[in-house]
Amino acid sequence: MALLQILQWPDPGLSTPCDSVGDEDLAELIADMFETMYAAPGRGLAAPQIGVLKRLFVMDATWKDSSDRTAGTPLVMINPELVSVGGQQESGVEGCLSIPGVLTEVQRPSSVTLRWQDETRRWQAGSFDGFAARCIQHEYDHLQGRVTFDHLSPQARLEAEEIYFRNLEKSE
Ligand code: ZN
Repeated sequence: MALLQILQWPDPGLSTPCDSVGDEDLAELIADMFETMYAAPGRGLAAPQIGVLKRLFVMDATWKDSSDRTAGTPLVMINPELVSVGGQQESGVEGCLSIPGVLTEVQRPSSVTLRWQDETRRWQAGSFDGFAARCIQHEYDHLQGRVTFDHLSPQARLEAEEIYFRNLEKSE
């Protein structure tokens, strides 16, 4: 396994819609993505964030809630398709491994239903709510070439970008 380099916004790879996954072998990529996500540490990582413009992401919405890693809920979604959204529009704060140092308030539906292929390419379907629904929509956005900034009003986006670039300068 290997740690992968995470692209930082505004890398153009983060603004590019991804291609569907075919029958390529993804076992090593998926293992590396999980290792990279846990090391970052993050709760989700989409393939375009490591420069692979394919429709897949890994996530584990709960592993940070416990000191016991085996209590996590790892999930791989390949070629995910949004079936429906429901519930209420809820506001929540989101970080992104590709936008370090900035938390962005994003409005999203509180529940989501999808179908996707698991790591054996079997089609699965499921509904999610709570934090998992937010996490899935965030990762799904990456596959569409969207990041948290794309949800902001022009004024809020300017302010968020300013904070981001100021932080970058400080860390250089
Ligand atoms: Zn992200």
